[in-house]
Amino acid sequence: MPVVGSRQSDEDSFASRLQTPDSKPVFILPRLLIMAREQFADLNHFAERDTRHVAERVIVIGSGPAGWSAAIYASRANLNPLLFEGTPHAEMIPLGQLAFTTEVENYAGFPAGNIRAFVESAVDPDRHYNLPPAPAGHERNGQPHYAVQGVELVELMKQQAINFGTRVAGEDVVDVDVEARPFKVTTGEGRVVEAHSIIVATGARANYLGLPSEETFKNRGVSACAVCDGALPRFRNKPLVVVGGGDSAVEEACYLTKFASKVYVVHRRDQLRASKIMQQRLLENPKAEVVWSHVPVNIVGNDKDGVTGVDLQSTVDQSAKHLPASGVFFSIGHTPNTAFLKGKLETNEKGYIRWTRPFRTYTSVEGIFAAGDVADDHYRQAITSAGTGCMAALDAERWLAEQGL
Ligand SMILES: Cc1cc2nc3c(=O)[nH]c(=O)nc-3n(C[C@H](O)[C@H](O)[C@H](O)COP(=O)(O)OP(=O)(O)OC[C@H]3O[C@@H](n4cnc5c(N)ncnc54)[C@H](O)[C@@H]3O)c2cc1C
Repeated sequence: MPVVGSRQSDEDSFASRLQTPDSKPVFILPRLLIMAREQFADLNHFAERDTRHVAERVIVIGSGPAGWSAAIYASRANLNPLLFEGTPHAEMIPLGQLAFTTEVENYAGFPAGNIRAFVESAVDPDRHYNLPPAPAGHERNGQPHYAVQGVELVELMKQQAINFGTRVAGEDVVDVDVEARPFKVTTGEGRVVEAHSIIVATGARANYLGLPSEETFKNRGVSACAVCDGALPRFRNKPLVVVGGGDSAVEEACYLTKFASKVYVVHRRDQLRASKIMQQRLLENPKAEVVWSHVPVNIVGNDKDGVTGVDLQSTVDQSAKHLPASGVFFSIGHTPNTAFLKGKLETNEKGYIRWTRPFRTYTSVEGIFAAGDVADDHYRQAITSAGTGCMAALDAERWLAEQGL
């Protein structure tokens, strides 16, 4: 609370203005005012305390499609959700992974069109600063014509949640006391908020190698999602590189052969980790070639074309080589954003939160539900995340009703 002046200085200023004829200060009126102010301060204090002690019915942690979708359903069910959207970090930003990408062509309900006009009509003007410029050169009949961009899509989801009464806090959750009832949720600012139920929707971040050139060419040829980006025009009939050697890498490489002229799989070992059947599918694909025992050391490109190739270094000798390519797809795993839970929820062998009931979003702790990529190491799409966000809110609503909360 801002401090507007000390009591002594208030008293002095009143005293200096209220003088008796014999110049003795009269303190009665200021004292009354101070007492009144103290009364109100006490009332405020109780109001604050009361609000803090009324536990939230549902807290949503995370601000991607899963979190906003959960918040939309929870607020429409009158659960008055509080959503923690997080703060910006290097690989994780409010609005989620879609905020790292440009056009999203596969989210149902958003065909290309004059998206900007719609977004600006729907999203509160004080957040327009956050919208990326419409992509250049995408016009029809003199109007912008493009598929919704990641930030636009999630801003629309956020607006929809706010419209139905979701309260949004721009803080990270750093701890959850899962033993306490209600749960105690601690934020990065040291705030502790109680909640009867929690929906964890904190996503998973794609792993990269950490090369400076990766950053330079993200969204201009560097991607971590073949299903999301593979069909984009920039990759069609061009040579592409997939980095990795597990099932995901092989699956992504096979998928990319539908569009690319050639797909190189760059793997640091002389054997793939992928299952035998997946390996066979890759090795028999005439458009695919594995580059064994090499790692990328630099992604090459320019402002006009984006990525044009990759420099590789051998892992067995000093040799190096260059592969011409218009895209580099990293498939070296994801890290689910669960550090703040410190192992308090059961996870699968890859660290993703485990759903404990089939086709439900229940976790190993009663009253905590998980949605989106943080619990899904298989699909990892915006629409599946939004779908499980809806499921988590419905599960939480039913669970709260069963508990009489
Ligand atoms: C470059 C790229 C392009 C993609 N393109 C597509 C595409 O075209 N189509 C598609 O369907 N999918 C695409 N995806 C995948 C899609 O973005 C994800 O599947 C989806 O965003 C997952 O949603 P989510 O809500 O589960 O989590 P996320 O989108 O990951 O959002 C979670 C967010 O929660 C917040 N958070 C995390 N931890 C905390 C905490 N402790 N406290 C508070 N907040 C926290 C963070 O801000 C985090 O960003 C793409 C992904 C990437 C990386």
